[in-house]
This record gives sequence, structure tokens and C-alpha cells, in this order.
Amino acid sequence: MMAALSAARKGVSVTIFERNDRIGKKILATGNGRCNFSNRDFSVAYYYGNREKLKGCFSRFSMEDTVHLFEAAGMLVKDRQGYLYPWSDQASTLLDIFRLELARHKVEICLDSKVEKIIRDKKTGKFRLEPCISIREYEAVILACGGCAAPKTGSDGSGFLLARDLGHRMVSPVPALVQLRCSDSFFKAIAGVRCEAGLTLCQESGKESMVLQEEWGELQLTDYGISGIPVFQMSRTAARALEQKKRVVVYIDFLPQMEEQDFQLYCVKKLQSFSPTLTMTIEEFLTGIGNKKLNHLFIKLANLSPGQPVFQIKKKELKRLLYSYKKLKVHVAAANSFENAQVTAGGVDLEEVDENLESVKLPGLYFAGEMLDVDGRCGGYNLQWAWTSGWIAGEEAAGKAIRSGIAAFP
Ligand SMILES: Cc1cc2nc3c(=O)[nH]c(=O)nc-3n(C[C@H](O)[C@H](O)[C@H](O)COP(=O)(O)OP(=O)(O)OC[C@H]3O[C@@H](n4cnc5c(N)ncnc54)[C@H](O)[C@@H]3O)c2cc1C
Repeated sequence: MMAALSAARKGVSVTIFERNDRIGKKILATGNGRCNFSNRDFSVAYYYGNREKLKGCFSRFSMEDTVHLFEAAGMLVKDRQGYLYPWSDQASTLLDIFRLELARHKVEICLDSKVEKIIRDKKTGKFRLEPCISIREYEAVILACGGCAAPKTGSDGSGFLLARDLGHRMVSPVPALVQLRCSDSFFKAIAGVRCEAGLTLCQESGKESMVLQEEWGELQLTDYGISGIPVFQMSRTAARALEQKKRVVVYIDFLPQMEEQDFQLYCVKKLQSFSPTLTMTIEEFLTGIGNKKLNHLFIKLANLSPGQPVFQIKKKELKRLLYSYKKLKVHVAAANSFENAQVTAGGVDLEEVDENLESVKLPGLYFAGEMLDVDGRCGGYNLQWAWTSGWIAGEEAAGKAIRSGIAAFP
């Protein structure tokens, strides 16, 4: 939609081919239905991909340009600590703004029109689309088919097949911004717990452990593993490591606000504050420290039972029990599937497009959005990439069409 709008604003004739019965279906699901369309806290460091190339792209169409464009189109913007949304808090508002703008710029929209093949005439350099949706030929084509994430919204990876057919190399797609499945048997017992936690993702080999990523935020424990924003943020790194057959673990710190020593000291003081003659159980002692389900799990993992008197427990055992609060190790078996993922890591290799996002293999072919091997952190960065890359591809494709003598709209 952004690519079409940017091309049409240059005055060329533009057609969108959309396989669904409406455009922009995925937008409606973004930001929990509110569409977190960008973020004022912006840096290329929040993206994976060729950052030098990305820097060039974002300098051409930035977060500020996005806000300006939507505001100029009549949409009020809400800023929640830097996270940007339509003022209405409805993703459908942003989609409606696009629909109005596309109509105003006379963009033709062909719905229920899945493109199966793209053919470029070697002599004329023009493109035809199959199945033969229209007999027209096009000066330029922009592939903006998304990746493989959330295939129900239309992006089922068919764009990657089109790119491959046209001779493009693909960085293997893996799910990103997704939950992680763990092989530990205790997850059913702690499912439903939500808490602030610090997470350290590591790859292990023998006794060696290498830290891959650290995150902090609200962790959600499910019956199959771990979820929540900090997990989403590290999921693409975990998925890549798993793809390379590495052993992947996450250490969970359930008390990230306290150093381990301070926590041990706190527990010693808590213990001393009760009379040793008191018949206090471990369960009672742990009350007030962690979530009840977690307290029970950690007692079990330390081979103790909840009813044991706390003053009879050996120091070493208690230390082991308390260690779980600071460094519970969970084993990652897999990232959840593309059905659950918000984005795709991987796609058309950025080395195979120039700074205008034009294919270096097929002049006249452009790429935008998740089709390219670019993915960002959670927080509006993936949509910002869609806007930036769409804008550039649209402008450049229009320029190409104009240079080849296509009559512009009056
Ligand atoms: C649940 C969810 C929540 C998200 N929340 C956010 C958020 O709040 N902020 C954020 O920045 N990002 C968010 N994202 C990610 C963001 O939505 C995507 O990165 C972005 O939509 C990618 O844009 P795109 O244009 O590349 O692809 P898409 O939005 O996937 O659009 C591709 C379009 O191409 C069509 N298509 C595919 N193949 C063909 C074909 N062969 N022929 C014709 N049409 C085809 C599809 O039907 C689809 O309409 C979220 C994603 C999901 C799934």
C-alpha cells in the first residue's frame, strides 16, 4: 500500500494485486488491534540485516516522514512513551487512511488476485503477471508480499517463491517475534504465571556457554514454554541458533531488581527475623518472595517438600533452592511456528538489491517490506520498515516508468 501510494504520488498509473478479498488484512491484527505503526525511539540498531544499507534507507524515509505523511493524510497520532498509534487506537483507522489515499491517487486495486508467476520480456524489459489477471504489461513490479508469518493474513511465503523463480537468493526464513517451546517437564505446573524477569539466552556446547542475547520485561509462562515481549525479542536469535543445531537455553532471573548476593542476604535476614523455635515450613518461608506456583516448583527442583520445617533444612539445600529464583535454566526445543509469529527473519538477500531496493539481477523489479531479509525488534519497527522500504521502492519504480516514457496522469 505504501509502495503503491508513493509511486502514484509521482503521477504514474499503479495497480495493486492482492490475493485476499481486501487489502491490508494484517494491519488489523497489529499492536493488538491498535497498530503500533512506528516508534520515536528509533535506531538502525533495532534491526537485523545489513545496517549500512538500512541507514541509507531510513535517511530517505524516516520515522518523522511516516508521522508527517499520516498526519498530512488526516490521521491524528497517539504517542505512548514513544510508541506511535493512530489516535483512535484502531488499526482500522490506519487502513482506512490508506484506502482513502489510494483512491485519491487513483490506484487500481485488484482483489482475489494471487500472482503465481512474473515474466519479464527480455526484449522490452516489461513484466507480465500470471495467471493472466490483466493483459497489461508493466514497466516495473514491486514485490511486497510479506514473509511467512501469520499466513492466515495472506503472507504464506508465496512471494519468496516468486523471487526465487526470478533468480533471487533467499536467506532461509525462520519465525521471529514468537514464543519459544521448551523441553522441560515442569511447564504445565507453572503455566499462567506472568512476572517481571531478566532473560539470558545462551548457546551451549559441552561445558561452555555463550551468551547470545539478554532481555528484560514481562515474562509469560505457558504450558509449553516461555512467551511475552522479552521472549519475542530474543526469539529470532534462538531460532537461528536452533537452525544451526546448537543447544539453546534460557536462564530466567525472577528477581532482576536484586543481585544474587543481596537476595541471599535478604533471605538470611528473613530467616533470622523468625524465632528458630517456630515451626515454619519452607512453603511458609517462601511466601512473599515469588509466585506461589514458582515457590512450589523451586521446592520440588531442590528435592524438598513444601511441608518441611525451614529450620531443619541444610544451608546448602536452601542455597540451591534460592538459586532457582535467580537462574532457572530452561531448554529451548523450538521457536513456535509461523502461524504464531509476528514477523519473518530472512527473505530476499539485501546484497541482491541496490540502495533503491531494485533487484541487481532484474532491472525493473523492486522489493519492499518483509520480503527482504530485514526484521526489527517489537515496538513498531517492522511496520516502519514496511513504510520506509515501500516508499523508496514506489518512488524508484515510478521514476523508472517515467524514464521509459510512460504517460503520467494529468
Ligand atoms: C499479530 C501481528 C501483530 C503485529 N504487530 C505489529 C506492530 O504492532 N507493529 C509493527 O511494527 N509490526 C507489527 N507486526 C508486523 C507487521 O505487521 C509486518 O512486519 C508488516 O505487515 C509487513 O508488511 P508487508 O507489506 O511486508 O507484508 P504483509 O503485511 O504481510 O502484506 C503482504 C500482502 O501481500 C499479499 N500477498 C502475498 N502473496 C501474494 C501473491 N502471491 N499475490 C498477491 N498478493 C499476495 C498478502 O495477502 C498481504 O496482503 C505484527 C504482525 C502480526 C502478525
